[in-house]
Amino acid sequence: MRIASVHIHKLSAPLRERFGWSLNWTSVRTATLVEVRTDSGITGWGDGAAAEELLQSHPELVLGRSPFEVESIYEDLRRPPYKQGRPGASRCGGLDTALWDVIGQAVGLPVSQLLGKQYRSAIRPYCTALYRKDWPDLAAGLCEEALFWKQQGFRAVKMKIGYNPETDIRIVRAVRAAIGADMGLAVDANCAYSVGDAISLGRRLEESNLLWWEEPVMADDLIGYARLHDQLRIPLAGGETLLADDLIRDYIQPRLVDILQPEVELIGLTGARRITPLCWLNHVQLVPHNWGTAVRTAAILQWMATVPPLTPALEACPATFEFDQTESPFRDAVVETGFRLGPDGTIAIPQTPGLGVRVIPEAVAQFRTQLISIN
Ligand SMILES: [Mg+2]
Repeated sequence: MRIASVHIHKLSAPLRERFGWSLNWTSVRTATLVEVRTDSGITGWGDGAAAEELLQSHPELVLGRSPFEVESIYEDLRRPPYKQGRPGASRCGGLDTALWDVIGQAVGLPVSQLLGKQYRSAIRPYCTALYRKDWPDLAAGLCEEALFWKQQGFRAVKMKIGYNPETDIRIVRAVRAAIGADMGLAVDANCAYSVGDAISLGRRLEESNLLWWEEPVMADDLIGYARLHDQLRIPLAGGETLLADDLIRDYIQPRLVDILQPEVELIGLTGARRITPLCWLNHVQLVPHNWGTAVRTAAILQWMATVPPLTPALEACPATFEFDQTESPFRDAVVETGFRLGPDGTIAIPQTPGLGVRVIPEAVAQFRTQLISIN
């Protein structure tokens, strides 16, 4: 079996209602789906980056090779012989995921069985929502939305902060009061603060009993993270923008964060498999970032099946991952069956061959604004 062609589908769709976070506002959702076709008739899909500029100039790095060379292809894309710069410079998570999907289908196994030991067959996600919208009263709008997600069965929710310290304190206190003490609450500042402001704000956030504070400072402010770690009683989280080598060197080995949030979009399932035992050895909890289509959620579920429990306790440190619930016209529309929270608050990990989702090419075409074919 050989890789015959790679098709990179760029998706975009307008939103009914714009939303914002500390960095920006948006009225559209975008995503990239990568389709790998083989000469055997098997087609694999991934959601994320595809090193497209590199592939356009050097298609031989992928075309004509066996999908079973996935590790070798990953290495060649991160250390391209033709490219300046240090290893890890190519983002290829979508392409890598599509290759694992091909392999799983070819051997008739779910990708989780190829990645490692299966520790679980279902996982309890946390809900990502609670962006800012054009509400007349931000805190009231967030409280109403948070209660909606609680009623939907979520046991934990993450809200955006990073607007300014006074606003953040006001909205976090309001949401915590609205959802009660029995629901998990995490906050995400998207790198909004200087370390000094983050320390003083963090001390005021401690009373709200947060699951974690995500990206309080810039992702490359390693000394800043270390200072926050020493001075705050809130678990720190981060890593969604970094490639596997940077995560290992800067975040996992120094235990810079309590919770690592890698993006399969960037690191692929090959990168995910590499960092999993290192996180376990360094006592860093893996809680993958997830901002894409159901194809990415499927990849994360296959990965999370294989992430060992951080401690042997039955309930103290449950596995979880990000389940984005903000408006997305194409998140579930591009697959036959999207993911829904079950009545027990968990999502079952697909056991069918490959990633376990069936992409609908016609639905992909409906949201596509650009197609890049390498063949
Ligand atoms: Mg984030």
